[in-house]
Amino acid sequence: MVVGLDPQLLEILACPCPQHGKLSSGTAADPEADALTCTACGRSFPVVDGIPVLLLTEALAGTGPEARQVDSEPGRSRELGSG
Ligand SMILES: [Zn+2]
Repeated sequence: MVVGLDPQLLEILACPCPQHGKLSSGTAADPEADALTCTACGRSFPVVDGIPVLLLTEALAGTGPEARQVDSEPGRSRELGSG
């Protein structure tokens, strides 16, 4: 279900990050998630009972500037000699 937040509320809400970026509904991975995503830092915040939890400590794991570092798997796919 899409976050049923008032567009005017979204206008006055801002991310608690230093950039105070604007928030958009959903997450980068799931635009229909019950969450708000900062357009500046990329952090996603959960929406609980229709109330956005705009706390840096509550930002969803795997979101934000630190999430940019993609975890590249160190183990390369080796061809196992079968047969
Ligand atoms: Zn932010």
